[in-house]
Amino acid sequence: REKLVEVKNLKKYFDMGKGQHLKAVDDVSFDIYKGETLGLVGESGCGKSTTGRTIIRLYGATDGSVTFNGEDVHGKKDKTKLKEFNRKMQMIFQDPYASLNPRMTVKDIIAEGIDIHGLANSKEERLEKVYDLLETVGLNKEHANRYPHEFSGGQRQRIGIARALAVDPDFIIADEPISALDVSIQAQVVNLMQKLQRERGLTYLFIAHDLSMVKHISDRVGVMYLGNLVELTESDTLYNEPLHPYTQALLSAIPVPDPELERSRERIILEGDVPSPVSPPSGCRFRTRCPHAMDICAKAVPQWQEAREGHYVACHLYDDELKENQ
Ligand code: SF4
Ligand code: MG
Repeated sequence: REKLVEVKNLKKYFDMGKGQHLKAVDDVSFDIYKGETLGLVGESGCGKSTTGRTIIRLYGATDGSVTFNGEDVHGKKDKTKLKEFNRKMQMIFQDPYASLNPRMTVKDIIAEGIDIHGLANSKEERLEKVYDLLETVGLNKEHANRYPHEFSGGQRQRIGIARALAVDPDFIIADEPISALDVSIQAQVVNLMQKLQRERGLTYLFIAHDLSMVKHISDRVGVMYLGNLVELTESDTLYNEPLHPYTQALLSAIPVPDPELERSRERIILEGDVPSPVSPPSGCRFRTRCPHAMDICAKAVPQWQEAREGHYVACHLYDDELKENQ
């Protein structure tokens, strides 16, 4: 499998003044393969969005690196190169209304990227492209001259998707694209995204706060907790054999449809709140809430390692297993 994005030891700290830093993303490493959907989940404030925004250069990196198609994203680049990154990496947001300019028509919203990147040679071609994009996302030309407030949440998300597609990207970061939508609409947007992925060979980073939301769309899923990536593997493996205690707790919180099974299941209740990312716990950041915490968990940061083939985890419970594998 070919890598499209490589994230290595990425850190993004925000300066809080008085020498304090909010460690939003702290030493995170993972790859995204061409054509796959990588799901990224965790409670709000765990660093998912910041990871996405740093990959796409909306934020500068505090440390570490991101490469896209083998090219360094954050290093100094000439203007042409930066423009190319801006075109090839697009973002879809949670609240499509907030991200669509209310004073612009749908046509101009979608055509903005076409204009910036000079992708149409004439007014006619520009309009033709907009009409095509509207059809592609399940809208039509009648919608072109309307304004965002005239649309439902699901339709606005379709407009956001059309805007992202307008510049023919390779990679789309979808930051909670369905979290604000009605459950009945969520599946429609996910289906649309999957269809577009097949047709256009797109690669997705799909961010959500809930494991059940990423289950169907993701090939692999990564789980974040308090600025760290704690587990990453194939979607099925993550759901069936989660290794990290935090993943196990998240999964136990998803209701299963079968009431019989639901009653017999053990729910793992996490004690306490997520600690502050300004002064996270020593060692393993999850230790203040972990049902399996041991002495070593306060003393040493668990290393991010491939515990089983293609299954990465950062947890001391697997240290012995790792030693045996080496
Ligand atoms: Fe729990 Fe320790 Fe593993 Fe952290 S390293 S998840 S505290 S067992
Ligand atoms: Mg977020």
